[in-house]
Amino acid sequence: MAGLIERYREHLPFADGDPVVSLEEGSTPLVEAPRLSRRVGARVWLKLEGANPTGSFKDRGMTCAVSAAVREGAEAVICASTGNTAASAAAYAARAGLRGAVIVPEGRIATGKLAQALMHGARVVALRGTFDEALTLVRRLVDRHPIALVNSVNAFRLEGQKTAAFEVLEELGGLDALCIPVGNAGNVTAYWKGFREADHAPRLFGFQAEGAAPLVHGAPVQAPDTVATAIRIGNPARWEEAMDAFTSSRGAVRAVSDAQILDAYRFLAAEEGVFCEPASAASVAGLLAHGAGEAESVACVLTGHGLKDPQMALDQAAAVVPCEPDLSAVERAVLG
Ligand SMILES: *Cc1c(COP(=O)(O)O)cnc(C)c1O
Repeated sequence: MAGLIERYREHLPFADGDPVVSLEEGSTPLVEAPRLSRRVGARVWLKLEGANPTGSFKDRGMTCAVSAAVREGAEAVICASTGNTAASAAAYAARAGLRGAVIVPEGRIATGKLAQALMHGARVVALRGTFDEALTLVRRLVDRHPIALVNSVNAFRLEGQKTAAFEVLEELGGLDALCIPVGNAGNVTAYWKGFREADHAPRLFGFQAEGAAPLVHGAPVQAPDTVATAIRIGNPARWEEAMDAFTSSRGAVRAVSDAQILDAYRFLAAEEGVFCEPASAASVAGLLAHGAGEAESVACVLTGHGLKDPQMALDQAAAVVPCEPDLSAVERAVLG
């Protein structure tokens, strides 16, 4: 399957012959979720963005942002990140032969994401501060140095991410509602752009974690806190655009508790066979808690893979069963 610049070039700001940095991202599975559908009373599909090359939807934006950076002659890329943007930026920078630097909030980044960024050779800077402080600082840094900023304030990121909306429409023909986790609010903004360009307007339901819900409260949150580290953001960069998307689509932005997020996280893995990261499960937690209006067809965006955050999974799952190496002990262990 072609990467998404090749697949959707006529909808993207890239001409034939422009440099393309791709890991064949996009074209992710859209799987029906029978047990979730029954609980919700609608047909529900899961868009498995964890199937992208680095395990999150960030790759859709990164192929565009890094390709544009190469076209502009950049030698390095940088981002502030809660983890997945760092992993993706590091991979695409490596692919392009650019230097990469990522600034993450110290101690708040999931193990898998940190391992990825380091393995891809990025310089990983752990800031003693929040994601929001990291983003403010990298924005100032790129004003002073010839480094391309690849956060979702970069317009190319949204261009790439809007292709997920095209894919959903191509498969289903139409859609009544989309449920999506919201952190910096770039992705919901991108989906809305994609749906509008394809002349569709499903209702967009965005979900923030209760402890990091600035859009729900209508004010920035100074010390955002949630187990869903990917959406632990107190002052979203795409605030106005996201609120416009919710209003224009007759949708809403709502909060879900960490307990609801973790319930949905375990439910998806155990009942649907889909292992996503906690932030991703906010979309399903929100659908279960608040419904999706009168919608008959609903897509939930599962933004990142469960393997990103193995420690969270081990904390939430049942313990392993120790066993002596003889048959009766194995029988007890397996069947008991
Ligand atoms: C980045 C990210 C989000 C939030 O997306 P925004 O565009 O910042 O709203 C949600 N889930 C995961 C797994 C992410 O990596």
